[in-house]
Amino acid sequence: MEKNDLKALIEEIYENLLERIDAEENATKSQVVNYLKDAIDVVLNIDDKDIDSIEHAKAAFNNSYKELVKQSLISYKNTNDKFGELSQLNEQALQKCNDKHIDLKALTTKFGEIQSHMTDEVKKANQIISELSEKIKTLEETTNLDPLTKVFNRRALISYLDGVCANKTTPLMHAIMLDIDNFKTINDTYGHIAGDKILIFISNILRKTIKEGDKIFRFGGEEFTVILNRNDDEESEAIANRILKLISSNRLVYMGENILVTASIGMTKLIQNDTPDTLISRADKALYASKHNGKNMVSKVMR
Ligand code: GH3
Ligand code: MG
Ligand code: MG
Repeated sequence: MEKNDLKALIEEIYENLLERIDAEENATKSQVVNYLKDAIDVVLNIDDKDIDSIEHAKAAFNNSYKELVKQSLISYKNTNDKFGELSQLNEQALQKCNDKHIDLKALTTKFGEIQSHMTDEVKKANQIISELSEKIKTLEETTNLDPLTKVFNRRALISYLDGVCANKTTPLMHAIMLDIDNFKTINDTYGHIAGDKILIFISNILRKTIKEGDKIFRFGGEEFTVILNRNDDEESEAIANRILKLISSNRLVYMGENILVTASIGMTKLIQNDTPDTLISRADKALYASKHNGKNMVSKVMR
């Protein structure tokens, strides 16, 4: 299966599932369970052989799937809560009937039946919710995408670099460590939500700047790592400078206010006998130099 076919298929399935959930204002238990079964089947049926070529598509789906499960759970929990409410109402009704002595035996029996049926449903609901919660936890532990920015996460970076460093040959590869300048102040001034939007904005700029084969990772907090493949030193430095220019020249308007954002970059290059740690620590050293020398600039530590 081609990467693009798979991407398209996954997108289609995902959209389908969301549409189905949207269409039902309050999805019933069996609907939600079926949606989730569909989603789980899709993930499970992706052939492991395809994983290298479809790594990104799979990660993207994992991420979408997680959101879907969360939405479903909320919807399902509402249903579950309603069962609980109904159950209470039912009990009150039973009580009333008894008080007034107008309750016929048959009526009580019927109420009793309904109630025990509902109690069963609530029990089953709780069981399913706890199973699904476990599954979400597992997915969160295995996904390699950052949920906020939808770029790869640090775990993915380390496993990618492990692969590169295990190679006998040393490919032409540059690593860029980018850290947003004064982000704490931005958060303090405009709020955490504005901060989150800036993280998404930066990852979109990175996405637009890189070419096929390059990779973007959120290293943590407000730090991103970009891996550039097959560019010489000058080209890589030019890309790094272009990224900074794009960031600083963009007007970011949040709640009517202009937010000025800049970032600093540390750049290095893969050398023989590098490990993920040695490569990252050189990029970090370069980043530190950029911060130290006034921020909004690119510094290099190449060996
Ligand atoms: P410098 O220019 O030296 O890099 O300073 P800085 O303020 O950017 O760096 P510092 O390490 O002091 O602060 C980083 C801030 O990033 C603090 C933390 O609250 C914020 N941050 C980390 N992750 C997130 C996130 O996911 N969303 C938001 N909104 N803020 C985040
Ligand atoms: Mg930082
Ligand atoms: Mg910072």
